[in-house]
Amino acid sequence: MAGFRDLPSVDQVLNGAAGQAMIAAHGRPAATAAIRAELDAARAAIRGGGAAGDVAAGAGVRLDAAAQTALRPMLNLTGTVLHTNLGRAILAEPAIAAAVTAMANPLALEFDLTTGGRGKRDDHLRGLICELTGAEDATVVNNNAAAVLIALNTLGFGRQAIVSRGELIEIGGAFRMPDIMARAGVELVEVGTTNRTHPRDYSAAIGADTGLILKVHTSNYRIEGFTAEVAAPELAAIAKAAGVPLLNDLGSGSLVDLSTYGLRREPTVAEAVAEGADLVTFSGDKLLGGPQAGFIAGRADLIAAIDKNPLKRAVRLDKIRIAALEATLRLYRNPDRLTEVLPTLAMLARPAADIAAQAARLAPAIDALLAPHGFAAAPCTCASQIGSGALPVDTIPSAGLRLTGTSGDAPDRLAARLRALPTPIIGHIRDGALILDLRCLPNDTALTGALAAL
Ligand SMILES: *Cc1c(COP(=O)(O)O)cnc(C)c1O
Repeated sequence: MAGFRDLPSVDQVLNGAAGQAMIAAHGRPAATAAIRAELDAARAAIRGGGAAGDVAAGAGVRLDAAAQTALRPMLNLTGTVLHTNLGRAILAEPAIAAAVTAMANPLALEFDLTTGGRGKRDDHLRGLICELTGAEDATVVNNNAAAVLIALNTLGFGRQAIVSRGELIEIGGAFRMPDIMARAGVELVEVGTTNRTHPRDYSAAIGADTGLILKVHTSNYRIEGFTAEVAAPELAAIAKAAGVPLLNDLGSGSLVDLSTYGLRREPTVAEAVAEGADLVTFSGDKLLGGPQAGFIAGRADLIAAIDKNPLKRAVRLDKIRIAALEATLRLYRNPDRLTEVLPTLAMLARPAADIAAQAARLAPAIDALLAPHGFAAAPCTCASQIGSGALPVDTIPSAGLRLTGTSGDAPDRLAARLRALPTPIIGHIRDGALILDLRCLPNDTALTGALAAL
């Protein structure tokens, strides 16, 4: 049992040079706990007939691992530009600067600098949203889910909302339209069928209890084949004739025509407003390229009613995101420069040839970095997606690196090792290889630098 007697005490380790460094970096309680855990492990190893490692070094490893945040920067090489699980949009520089300023300083969030009286936090965004969408008025909340919730609750509480069976979406997580309606206190009236809904289906359902008609952009799926939906302008006419408001949930809601950037056209927010929807809802961190937020744009009387809803306070935005949103929206005043200044659009608009050239350039260096670990890299073509429910079945031609190994589980093993890097790299597995789509790679050294730590 000589092994046990060789183990140091907790205090001996704490008072040594390594222990003092641990205390300075991580605090005494954490350092003490790590040394205790390491001593327990060492005793268990000795009981099992093995040898104990260096206790101070082991405790240091434990502390460093615990101190590493999972929220560290990583490389999104999945090919999905707006990846919900990876935080969606990367903000533009002016938006980041505005957020930092807002974090570090008092600012006139609800204060009128001209009169010295009270101001409204949404007023910083209201004018810009109206200017960019053509809407009469607008308000902002925590995210688009909240925008839909509060709009439904304001227009339809204790009443009915008419929705096509083809648009009863689940966005992921717990956001399912029927459930949100129930929580908003709105009775769901489904009309039409999964694949076909006609104007007469809506007309027949409108009655004394109708609070609103809801149109939902089918963001994450597409119904194809023998289909019919009632387009927004026609639905707006039906709603108007019945004196019932039409809420159009756009989901991603682009402020610019995506076909300008070689992508398939999606209706813009301005078009949805012009088509006659009384209210339009859309996200801040999808195609718009800003921080998480939900926008509601449309009729001034309905926006006023939403702003008076007691739920508004529960879903309002904080000053950091208001500042970042204002800076993001300002960029849209100069559409010609958008792909230079807005990372989301820059990545979406990046030509496949440019990405392919980067893949060809990087392949030898990446192959050399992976070879000692038993993996190889070669350039390949692949297909990116916008993500977050924009153009769900469309892909954008892209290029990347195809990483392979010899054993069958090579892609999974490599994927796990890349996730564990100081700068984690996330790709996707396809046909027995780990594919790194380079569309969202900021520069060559970001990848070589991250992989050098393998
Ligand atoms: C994404 C989406 C939502 C939810 O928006 P969040 O900003 O994620 O809260 C709601 N409706 C549609 C149609 C969507 O695409």
